[in-house]
Amino acid sequence: MSTLAENVDVVVVGGGPGGSTVSTLLAQRGHRVVLLEKEKFPRYQIGESLLPSTVHGIGRLLGVTEELEKAAFTVKRGGSFRWGTNPVPWNFLFAVAPELSGPTSYAYQVERMKFDDILLRNAAAKGVDVREESQVTEVIADDERVRGIRYTDSEGVPHEIRASFVVDASGNRSRIHQNVRGERIYSDFFKNIAIFGYFEGGQRLPAPDSGNILCAAFDEGWIWYIPLSDTLTSVGAVISREHAAKLQGDQEQSLRGFIDRCEIVKGFLSGATRVTEGTYGEIRTRKDYSYTNSSFHRPGMVLVGDAACFIDPVFSTGVHLSTYAGLLAARSINSVLAGDISEDRAFEEFEGRYRREYRVFYEFLSAFYDMQSNEDSYFWKARKVTNLEATDLEAFATLVGGVHSGEQAFTNAGALVEEFQKSSAGLADAVERTGSMQTESGERMHHLFGTPVVREVMTEMNNIQVRGVRGADAFEAPLLEAGLVPSPDGLSWTEEAK
Ligand code: FAD
Repeated sequence: MSTLAENVDVVVVGGGPGGSTVSTLLAQRGHRVVLLEKEKFPRYQIGESLLPSTVHGIGRLLGVTEELEKAAFTVKRGGSFRWGTNPVPWNFLFAVAPELSGPTSYAYQVERMKFDDILLRNAAAKGVDVREESQVTEVIADDERVRGIRYTDSEGVPHEIRASFVVDASGNRSRIHQNVRGERIYSDFFKNIAIFGYFEGGQRLPAPDSGNILCAAFDEGWIWYIPLSDTLTSVGAVISREHAAKLQGDQEQSLRGFIDRCEIVKGFLSGATRVTEGTYGEIRTRKDYSYTNSSFHRPGMVLVGDAACFIDPVFSTGVHLSTYAGLLAARSINSVLAGDISEDRAFEEFEGRYRREYRVFYEFLSAFYDMQSNEDSYFWKARKVTNLEATDLEAFATLVGGVHSGEQAFTNAGALVEEFQKSSAGLADAVERTGSMQTESGERMHHLFGTPVVREVMTEMNNIQVRGVRGADAFEAPLLEAGLVPSPDGLSWTEEAK
């Protein structure tokens, strides 16, 4: 069978949130973009709890805000945690200070089949040539750069596409990332396994927190409880890899066993039934998902989303990191194709920002695990931060050592940059000071949320949201030393005006 050949500006591999984001933002600058997705959408994916920067920042840049509203996803004001020593759950809210809580201080809990489909259809509507059931089999490269890909369509017909750039947004399990030289480095700290399923009729937290994700620690790990609709709940246990043997037998029994050992979730599910049919009827497991690639770019090719890195399900960072990377990659490619910035400089900015975002979340999540203090349990003992490398320890010292200052400016997601800079609200106020927080671990948690690294975590997410809300009026200083700044429309880079 002869191979069909064509030439375009960019080929994007994978139609998840990372691939849809980058391809749409490239097409909006008029480039010829082909997106190849091996599945027929809608397809199942895990990663249902989102952060506001994806919904309001990226969502607006992509032009899907109204469609997301129409989809009537569960509104998530924040997270509720049974974490630390106190048995009563406490809340982390996206609206940090009441006077600043704006229209963007919430996110959604989404059925990924629906959310990813909205993003992919939007990409097609914005001019991306979306080809489903098209599996990329090979990357075409020479010593100098990546030149394109080969793929097979749904009829088994082989194709070849030559392109100025190939974006690998093919997720966790594809091997295309190996074409960017370097290796996938697995985390020594987050060595977990997840087992998850779906339930009908589970209890909800009391209003107004009924849409929150609930994360509840138990001896062998922790459980997520995500309300996807009034009745449907995603429930998953994250346990240590050392307990993998417990997942060998009947998976239903394994999941039930973990739920039974987690009092609050057991209670919430006492009147619920597990979904046993259709897409949500399967109990699934995932492992080996915490890693980072040693390089995210080589000439002609870039990694975005899970193809590049992922940390851990706690705190819902996966879709944020993949859509953020999609935005950064689009800015870099748009700049290079326009001849404005050299490829080296554009991707130095891409990789610098992306790694920064990954690193601060990594530190934050490590410290967050450390807040759960059950020294008697293997899982939690193994996740004390003292197991980390020296650099991580340093980060942790900054994290827990930083004394919360009411003057450290931090605002909620919807606040604009000026308010962000002026505000005297502390991020620590995001943790609701309920009775459950008036304990030693509550105080530690409160301090954790007031530390510099947490501020760093939120800075760039806020910038993205402000960009979504304000468009061309958004102001951003360089994030990296001598770095680039986004163009007025947010779709490419420029040198900072002197
Ligand atoms: P994906 O969503 O994986 O999309 C990649 C696409 O590429 C797929 O559609 C795939 O079919 C396609 N593809 C693969 N190979 C090829 C090929 N050769 N050719 C063409 N197409 C190809 N994140 C959150 O934000 N919130 C959460 O609550 C959350 N919970 C999680 C729980 C667990 C247990 C795990 C493991 C992860 C969780 N995540 C969560 C992370 C989240 O699932 C991912 O970070 C996110 O889906 C990454 O998006 P992506 O676009 O990079 O990749």
